[in-house]
Amino acid sequence: MVRSATVIGAGIGGLAAAVGLHRIGWRVAVVEQAAEIDAIGAGITLWPNALRALEALGFGERVRELGKPQESAGMRSSDGRWLSRLDGAEIERELGRPMLGVHRAQLHRMLLDELPAVCLHTGVHVTAVGRDGAVPGLDLPPADLVVGADGINSQVRARYWPDAPRPRYTGFAAWRAICERRDLTEIGVSWGRGREFGIVPLVDGRTYWYVAMPAPEGARNPDERAYLREQFASWHSPIPELIDGTPAEAVLRNDIRHLGGRLKSYATGNVALLGDAAHAMTPHLGQGGCQALEDAVVLVAACARFDDVAEALTHYDAERRPRTQQIARASYWAGRFGPFLANPVAVALRDTAARLAPSSAAIKTFMRVSGWTPPQIEGLDS
Ligand SMILES: Cc1cc2nc3c(=O)[nH]c(=O)nc-3n(C[C@H](O)[C@H](O)[C@H](O)COP(=O)(O)OP(=O)(O)OC[C@H]3O[C@@H](n4cnc5c(N)ncnc54)[C@H](O)[C@@H]3O)c2cc1C
Repeated sequence: MVRSATVIGAGIGGLAAAVGLHRIGWRVAVVEQAAEIDAIGAGITLWPNALRALEALGFGERVRELGKPQESAGMRSSDGRWLSRLDGAEIERELGRPMLGVHRAQLHRMLLDELPAVCLHTGVHVTAVGRDGAVPGLDLPPADLVVGADGINSQVRARYWPDAPRPRYTGFAAWRAICERRDLTEIGVSWGRGREFGIVPLVDGRTYWYVAMPAPEGARNPDERAYLREQFASWHSPIPELIDGTPAEAVLRNDIRHLGGRLKSYATGNVALLGDAAHAMTPHLGQGGCQALEDAVVLVAACARFDDVAEALTHYDAERRPRTQQIARASYWAGRFGPFLANPVAVALRDTAARLAPSSAAIKTFMRVSGWTPPQIEGLDS
């Protein structure tokens, strides 16, 4: 008998889960509030664990076709002094995969291409979903599994986890943009006092950059690019030039929020949460989207392995909750003890410690987070 799922949310996590379920023969309905599935949010760094997750879902070849990985990665102080630097080949040798900077739209398109159009129901803001997958206003067949992949403000979480912690503002905002500069080859992050500037060359040749800085919640500047230009005027090259070379309208600004506590379970009966709905984390380890992809793989593998959906979800919860909650915690503290230190003495100590640490220490940190082996998905038709 064909089993079926209703997935709420067509972000990275929801689409990956939907594709995986479709590929193991499930009938899938994906319900998305946006009228068109067209990812905003500039670029995203895919760590080796995310690349393994995509391979497990059958995207190995598509990932390799995305483009050339970055040559190296490093960390600098605001005046441009290197604090640490890792060779891209070394990262790949140690971690088994490279790191890839991709445009979010490219990743979305890759996932979307594998999903029959009839599965997608766009322009529907879900306010209620039944355990049978029923969504008011939509004529969906009954579902064995309901997946809440509807991001940090998840309605599915609100409905089935009424006591869940609420999203919380971190006190920091993020600015992100993609510009046409095509000569950069190194992923780099520069730390100042209480702020950071990241540069990620994308596999399509362009450059994605981001900023994280303290800001009042909800605040906006009339011209965000001009504001950043002023804030980073004295930072090392190519930071001011990158800001100058970006159209003002390409600069996105968001408050950085995370789930202000831990869920006790990612599953209740036949309803599961994944991605930001389950564990929205700060972006300092660049892992939110990568973990959403891992979630999707583990969920699909469990659904393929167990006939009983509740049993599959018990397995999914046990596999995913400890790891994602640990990474969310590590990401939070990586921000607090990293770029967001503002006291000059603490900043000097931080920079010295980073400069003196051997590259093997950085590799170990990378390994802890991205050294993940996906489960085999039985019966995956790719
Ligand atoms: C500044 C910044 C930089 C980041 N950088 C990285 C990075 O480099 N690497 C990385 O791995 N992660 C990064 N992240 C985190 C990453 O963006 C998220 O963790 C990831 O997008 C989560 O995917 P998701 O599918 O769980 O949720 P989302 O991407 O939030 O998708 C949820 C989807 O559900 C839809 N939806 C929401 N509510 C409803 C509803 N009620 N009805 C119907 N549809 C609904 C939304 O429209 C959306 O399409 C970053 C985050 C930030 C803020």
